[in-house]
Amino acid sequence: MSIKSNIQAIKAALPVGTRLVAVSKFHPLSSIEQAYAAGQRIFAESRPQELAAKVAQVAELAKSAEAVEPAKNPFEGLQWHFIGHLQTNKLSLVLPFVSLVESVDSLHLLEAINNWGIAHEKTIDVLLEAHIAREESKQGFSFEQIRDILSNRNLYERVRFRGLMAMASNTPDMEAVREEFAGLRDFFNTLQSPEFSELSIGMSNDWPVALECGSTMVRIGTAIFGAREY
Ligand SMILES: *Cc1c(COP(=O)(O)O)cnc(C)c1O
Repeated sequence: MSIKSNIQAIKAALPVGTRLVAVSKFHPLSSIEQAYAAGQRIFAESRPQELAAKVAQVAELAKSAEAVEPAKNPFEGLQWHFIGHLQTNKLSLVLPFVSLVESVDSLHLLEAINNWGIAHEKTIDVLLEAHIAREESKQGFSFEQIRDILSNRNLYERVRFRGLMAMASNTPDMEAVREEFAGLRDFFNTLQSPEFSELSIGMSNDWPVALECGSTMVRIGTAIFGAREY
């Protein structure tokens, strides 16, 4: 299967209102170009350095194309999301370039993003990462912590809270995954508003279950680009 046919197959299965986020981490720019040519517009990266490098590569390509044909940006409308663990000393590699930080997983990070926003007069759209997997190793807030943050949201004047992100347990047991996603969806439904409206769940191995549980954004890498070479 080609990148193009993979994207088309996934998009055909998405209900109206659910968006595909193509996770391009560890994949080369040529893969991103192929996905873009197939109509994909939202890409996600999980490592600050890699994101910044790809943003620069895309800008470079756009510049050389515009030299040939002015005012024709070959990456018009391309957006980046950040989905990895973000250290506060790496904000400047990420925040200038992304339309959404999906992986806010600590108060320390939230405060740092807000301070960066104040300093740069920019409001940053974020999702709060919820911990729903059984694995202790996974990042994220408890439901109670999320409620606390949202009830204090006016402390973060330069942050716009757009919804929740989560990763289910890494297991082939789709009933266990469904339970985790459904629990999150029920919690999300108690918080939902016109602004707080995104539920980012579903990866290559579990996105069909995530759709059944109300996902508004699936984050898919392997099923589009193939296996990653670390
Ligand atoms: C890598 C990654 C994905 C995509 O994983 P695949 O299994 O390749 O689809 C989705 N979400 C997050 C947070 C990731 O780090």
